[in-house]
Amino acid sequence: MKLTFLGTGTSTGVPSIGCDCETCLSTDPRDKRLRQSALIEEGEIKILIDTSIDFRQQALRAGISKLDAILITHCHVDHVFGLDDIRPLNFRHGAMGVYANEPAWTDLKRIFKYIFEPVHFGGGLPQLIPHLVTKNSPFCIGSDVEVTPLEVIHGKLPVIAYRFNDFAYATDLKLMPEETKNGLRDLDVLALDCVRIKPHSTHLCLEESLALIEELKPKRAFLIHLNHDIMYERDSKLLPDNVEFAYDGLVVES
Ligand SMILES: [Zn+2]
Ligand SMILES: [Zn+2]
Repeated sequence: MKLTFLGTGTSTGVPSIGCDCETCLSTDPRDKRLRQSALIEEGEIKILIDTSIDFRQQALRAGISKLDAILITHCHVDHVFGLDDIRPLNFRHGAMGVYANEPAWTDLKRIFKYIFEPVHFGGGLPQLIPHLVTKNSPFCIGSDVEVTPLEVIHGKLPVIAYRFNDFAYATDLKLMPEETKNGLRDLDVLALDCVRIKPHSTHLCLEESLALIEELKPKRAFLIHLNHDIMYERDSKLLPDNVEFAYDGLVVES
C-alpha cells in the first residue's frame, strides 16, 4: 500500500496570507502546506481522501489521471471545495463513487446543489455516484482494499476516519471514541490530526496527538493538518522516533 500526502496544511494553508512568522517565511519546501488531502494506492486502485480546496493543483502535481473512489472525511471548506475539479477525470473515465457520512452529504447537497439538482444543461457537471458511509461498516474498493470508516469528533461534528488494511487516516478531531481507538490498533501507518503545539478547541494539539499515538501504538505515525506554529526542521526534535511531521509530496509505502 502506498500513501501520498497531497496536502498537509490546516484550513488556511501554510504560508498563511499576510503572515511573516518564521514558518511562513521559511524556504524549506516541507514548510509549504496545501490543504489536507491524501492519495491511497494499492496495485491499480487509486483512492482520494477529500477533494481539498487545492485539489486541482494537487492532482496536477501528483500526476493523478484516474481515481477509483473519493472518500470525504467531512464537509468543511478546506476538505471539499475542490469537488468541481473532478470533471476532467469524469470526461476521461465517467462517473466516480464518492463516499461520505450523513452530515457531510446533507451539507454537500446544499453547497453543491447545482450538481444534484441541475438547472443549466450542457455545462459539464461533476459526475458522482453517492455512497452513504456508516461508521464501523466496512466496504471494498476493488478487490484488495477494505475500507473501514470510523467516527471521530471535531468540535461537535462527526468526522470519518478511514482505515485501509494496515494504514489509517484520521484528520480533524478533538475526541476519539473508544470504539474508534479499538479499530485503529495494529497499524503500520497512522496519519493523525495535529493542528499546532498549543491546545485547540476542535483539533488535537501536539501533546494530545502524541498521547494518542502512544496509546494506539502504530509502527509509524505522521502528523497532519499542521498550521504555521509548526516548523518542520525546528520542531521535528520534539517528536519520538516513530513519529514524523508529514509534508506535501511525502510518500509512505509498506
Ligand atoms: Zn480541516
Ligand atoms: Zn505564519
